[in-house]
Amino acid sequence: MNSRNFIIVGAGLGGLATALRLSHRGHKVTILEKNKHIGGRNSRVQVNECDFDGGASLMMMLDPFKSLFRDIGERIEDHLELKLCDPSYRVFFGDGSTIYGTPNVATMVDQIEKLCGRDEAERYGKLLGDLAELYRLSIPNFVRRNYNSPLDLVRLDSLKTVLKHHMLSNLSKRMEGYVSDPRLRMLFSFQTMYLGLSPFDAPWVYAVLTYMEYGEGIWYPMGGLSTINEKISELAVAKGVEIRTEAEVTSISGNTVTLVGGEVLSADAIICNNDLPYAEKQLVAPSGSSTNKGAAKERRYSCSAYTMYLDYEGELPELKHHNIFFGNDFKGNLDGIFHQPMGVHDDPAFYCCVSSKTDAQRAPAGHENVFILVPCPNNDYDMKESDLERMRRHVFSRIPGFDETKIRGMVTRTPKDWEEEYHLDKGATFGLAHDFWQSVCFRPDNRCKTNPHLFYVGASTVPGNGLPMVLISAELVEKRLEEANLL
Ligand SMILES: Cc1cc2nc3c(=O)[nH]c(=O)nc-3n(C[C@H](O)[C@H](O)[C@H](O)COP(=O)(O)OP(=O)(O)OC[C@H]3O[C@@H](n4cnc5c(N)ncnc54)[C@H](O)[C@@H]3O)c2cc1C
Repeated sequence: MNSRNFIIVGAGLGGLATALRLSHRGHKVTILEKNKHIGGRNSRVQVNECDFDGGASLMMMLDPFKSLFRDIGERIEDHLELKLCDPSYRVFFGDGSTIYGTPNVATMVDQIEKLCGRDEAERYGKLLGDLAELYRLSIPNFVRRNYNSPLDLVRLDSLKTVLKHHMLSNLSKRMEGYVSDPRLRMLFSFQTMYLGLSPFDAPWVYAVLTYMEYGEGIWYPMGGLSTINEKISELAVAKGVEIRTEAEVTSISGNTVTLVGGEVLSADAIICNNDLPYAEKQLVAPSGSSTNKGAAKERRYSCSAYTMYLDYEGELPELKHHNIFFGNDFKGNLDGIFHQPMGVHDDPAFYCCVSSKTDAQRAPAGHENVFILVPCPNNDYDMKESDLERMRRHVFSRIPGFDETKIRGMVTRTPKDWEEEYHLDKGATFGLAHDFWQSVCFRPDNRCKTNPHLFYVGASTVPGNGLPMVLISAELVEKRLEEANLL
């Protein structure tokens, strides 16, 4: 096979992993990235001497990470020092009670018994067993594959699996059949928020995320999750990939891209890693049209996040590396994020990460790197400074022992910042929503319908959002390029 020439727009995880795969096969790859740094939503933030992962901080589902390294003849262990976080996280409920999430089944049963009684504890095994089965069936059959048509899904065997395991039933309602205590229902269903999707709106199949945590555990690569992108980028560059930063693409037409400043580049194929709805609306010329605007269909979007990165002098001994804080009205909180009228709740749930608890190098002695993520509405809601202030006050008041006077530096990102910095339409930090009509075979295809030279990789195409899914997306686009005889 002749060597081909590919352009990848965006140096997020999806773009980097695709570049590594293609360069490993001997092809010439150029990545064009608008920002000064690579990594996209999985890149670093620095506040004084504290180092943070700006977006992703939970590493789950190791298999796609291992596959990428294996497929290019490497071993993940030679590039990333992975640690299991056990406990996975500490959970603080609104009523003052706490629990540790852990993949250790005996510890989990013991804690559930103490928190909610014996009946509830005895049912945990059934929940975990059913989730393991759901995971085993859904990942290879529905996630790690390309679809040519929705008809692929209605094949008899697929349909039987969907029906037998109630994959499309409502997640939050179905969880009620496994656990009665409202705290446990939150504990085992909030994971859909990793996709920017409310568990009250999610189909049961997304309970695979709960299995990833409680069946397989949460991992941490020493140096931070951004190290994953950095290592992939190093390997890609060693195989000849050229990465151009501060190289923003303004339009894509046929097999050419135009950059800010007017430079035009062409390739055998273009792979767009910047978020798909933005690419459709802003970059891609509809077939036969002279404008590159307005190509997109009306799509539905995930929520956003207000993130804070604090250089905190002192110790927060009650916190673990990962911490989840629930309020007393989870449903009301999520309704305000996802449904009209949108708004910021008075008692919002949030996530807090202190990676220096595992990796002391990430903060100077006597300091902790405190990262906070408050899920909030996307830019369909006009976020006001008073909303941001309320979220900050709330978070600072809930973290045990937190003393605001010990903050030595703080950087924040609002939904508008996320939109601007990474071209995330509506500031939807998790890309397109994962509702039924935007999941599996209904999620936007990784082939552009109007341009045979253009393909997509990343969180808003198949299979979806999150680091492991984005790595699978790189596997899937490689298969598409093979089908198109481009590899
Ligand atoms: C706050 C937050 C927390 C998260 N937490 C987790 C987690 O704990 N675990 C997990 O697995 N996942 C998590 N995720 C999701 C995960 O980070 C994303 O799914 C993943 O990083 C997306 O990768 P990507 O390659 O699809 O896109 P991106 O990372 O968005 O990369 C796209 C790149 O394209 C560039 N670009 C945009 N427009 C242009 C242009 N016109 N020209 C050139 N370049 C352009 C952007 O600058 C960017 O670098 C989180 C995400 C966020 C935002």
